[in-house]
Amino acid sequence: MTQVITAKALSARFDALGDVGVGPEGVQRLAWTAEDAATREWFEGQAAEVGLRVERDPAGNLWGCPDAEPPWWGVGSHLDSVRGGGRFDGPLGVACAFEIAAASDRPVAVVSFADEEGARFNTPTFGSKALAGRLDLPAVLARRDDDGVSLREAMRSAGVDPDAIDRAPEWLRTRLAGFVEIHIDQTTELARAGEPVGVVSGLAARTRLEVRLSGRADHAGTTPRSERRDALSAAARLIVGAEDAASSLDGDHAPLTVTASRIITKPNAPTTIAAEVRLWIDARAPGFDAIDAWRKRLDSVVLEIGARTGVEIEIAVASRSDPREFAPPLRAALSRACEAVLGHEPPELVCFAGHDAGVVAERVPAAMLFVRNATGVSHSPDETVSLEDAAVAARVVVRALETLA
Ligand SMILES: [Zn+2]
Repeated sequence: MTQVITAKALSARFDALGDVGVGPEGVQRLAWTAEDAATREWFEGQAAEVGLRVERDPAGNLWGCPDAEPPWWGVGSHLDSVRGGGRFDGPLGVACAFEIAAASDRPVAVVSFADEEGARFNTPTFGSKALAGRLDLPAVLARRDDDGVSLREAMRSAGVDPDAIDRAPEWLRTRLAGFVEIHIDQTTELARAGEPVGVVSGLAARTRLEVRLSGRADHAGTTPRSERRDALSAAARLIVGAEDAASSLDGDHAPLTVTASRIITKPNAPTTIAAEVRLWIDARAPGFDAIDAWRKRLDSVVLEIGARTGVEIEIAVASRSDPREFAPPLRAALSRACEAVLGHEPPELVCFAGHDAGVVAERVPAAMLFVRNATGVSHSPDETVSLEDAAVAARVVVRALETLA
């Protein structure tokens, strides 16, 4: 008989993590910093308490290993945060993982992935990508933070040898039979459905476009409207056009989100018409069919704007990530376990953000369980979770693992 996981037990784990990196702007636990080292100490204490041996792999991921022959099932998440983040994105999954390991009859490893947020070096899901052997190491290690410190230097000062990272994939290959991550819902989907937990069917497809708009610099006062080639005004039309193109697809396709996320304009002077703009647009949907349909509409919007403004517009694909479906047998096991714990089937949701479980899923069966978030907000101190709901999620995982080979 396994012990019952309670909100109170989870609360004690959060209390032990305390105020590491907590300031007036929220939580700040960036990778390879003193705050990161403090969360590692917490991890070591929690692991010791439930009888797990702590090891750090060559990429700096933390493992709480059971006293049994690998491969084991792994559960976990991450302990780093964005700048000004909340308390639950990441630590919720790790705190639940220690409860799961303690309550489970089978050997379960707890994993905390290094630098999931990538907030310091723009290296999201760093630790899981290292395990999957998917990092372009020379390029990534040369990246510098805002203070000019390279990732290579930062890792070294945190006690991880950057030249040994290529040995990380061996750990994933030999140690993990599969992986489950519990994470805070980053939408209001579960809250609106009145459900404490949901099974994630997969991660969305993503395209990031880089748009270059070339106009002509000229005097903001003396240039008649008919003679302008204003790159910034064309960019504004394009931003609105990209959103309108997405709304025009509503109903034909699964939900599509489009975000004009970054803009650089030149010369960026108060009395000069903008000559050049670089604009980044991020588009996500459950599959590429919706993104491709949107892109087609965007291309005709671009032609129209170009003809109307005299601005030359070029679009390049800056990055593209495939959608990632989580393992169907594992999702089914989580669903059945939910039914046993809650008395009804949980909803399935598509996640529009990146996660370590999605990277690990390329190599071993993996899945995610989301926990209701009343505000739907994440990456901010406003994120909220009831630890009662989190305890339900942890109980579901314990039960699901019992049914897996
Ligand atoms: Zn997270």
